[in-house]
Amino acid sequence: VAQRVASFGTTIFTEINQLAQQHSALNLGQGKPDFDTPPEIVEAVVQALRAGNLNQYAPGDGTPALRQAVADHAARFYQVEVDPLRGVVVTSGATEGIFAAILGLVDPGDEVIVLEPFYDSYVPNILMAQAVPVYVPLHPPHWQFDPDELRAAFSKKTRAVILNTPHNPTGHVFSREELSFIAELCLEYDVTVIADEVYEHLTFGEAQHLPIASLPGMFERTVTVSSSGKLFSATGWKIGWVYGHPDLIEGVRRAHQFITFSVHHPTQEAIAFALNLPNDYYQDFRQLYAEKRDLLRSALDAAGLRYAVPDGTYFIMADYSALFAGSAVEFTRYLIQEAGVACIPPDSFYSPAHAHLAQGYARFAFCKSDEMLHQVHERLLLLH
Ligand code: PMP
Ligand code: GLN
Repeated sequence: VAQRVASFGTTIFTEINQLAQQHSALNLGQGKPDFDTPPEIVEAVVQALRAGNLNQYAPGDGTPALRQAVADHAARFYQVEVDPLRGVVVTSGATEGIFAAILGLVDPGDEVIVLEPFYDSYVPNILMAQAVPVYVPLHPPHWQFDPDELRAAFSKKTRAVILNTPHNPTGHVFSREELSFIAELCLEYDVTVIADEVYEHLTFGEAQHLPIASLPGMFERTVTVSSSGKLFSATGWKIGWVYGHPDLIEGVRRAHQFITFSVHHPTQEAIAFALNLPNDYYQDFRQLYAEKRDLLRSALDAAGLRYAVPDGTYFIMADYSALFAGSAVEFTRYLIQEAGVACIPPDSFYSPAHAHLAQGYARFAFCKSDEMLHQVHERLLLLH
């Protein structure tokens, strides 16, 4: 294989899925709903498939209906004004959106700041772009950055920061204060933010998602990435998008046209329909997950696992140190084999130098049926 990919192993998600299957474990590993996409959204794809004119290449930047829906959604929820013609690119999931943003906006040798733990595709993306990741840890139990550590990571070489809020795997939702601190540094050092907001509608209680693009002076220097996978429980469709100031989106567009050119056409029409659903959809979605979060919480409580209650996403980072002495990978194996419950060891969300910070933690996903979450509770009880 090429040197570019020689250091990349198999993703942790694939590894844990295989192990969970071997042991018939209840799989709270990969963030993938075990229930289906809402029927009216599936119906919208069926209609698009049958429309007679939507089964050929879509326009490269995305269908006009979806680009308009992305712009309308940003205006409705965040009062952010987006140009649907020149300010949106539809990508193959947020995964391609992030990669196209890095390839289109970061030069070889530039530094890109990444908060640890990070979603596992960021660093391989940065390395494939021949850029240099610079790591800043989020500290448990509340997964906040140390302002001095963040400031120290910025330099003349910094080109971009990847900011994921609500944050996978910790569930942290960045506050206005935290975002303003990041924004000030980006303004001072002339840095672009790649904002990964795929969990934008998954916040609980008082917590509110705030796009960094909505802060003063930040729209011009932020590309925001999101996707339909989480929002419409349609992770298999891989429809994502990037929006921002047309000058930045131009970079994303140039990369995207030679990565995938365009993405699945009929599902774009269905996602345009889904993004336009009334506020009730979004409220019910949040409520559904608030209840699932509580089911997982009581299961983890039953096992004596401790955690900071997540304000967002569908993950809980649990501290297993009171229960098990060993690495996160060892704990995951133990839990799969002894309890029949799979989780994700967060080692792949850290740089090698900071992998020790993963020690003591494991990520559990609660995007699962209530029945499964009840069964997890029963199995974890037996650990005691
Ligand atoms: N970013 C984060 C933080 C994620 O958790 C995921 C996983 N869904 C992605 C990006 C990738 O999203 P998509 O499936 O739309 O490519
Ligand atoms: N985003 C999901 C997670 O964090 C799944 C990602 C993947 O399978 N690549 O679990």
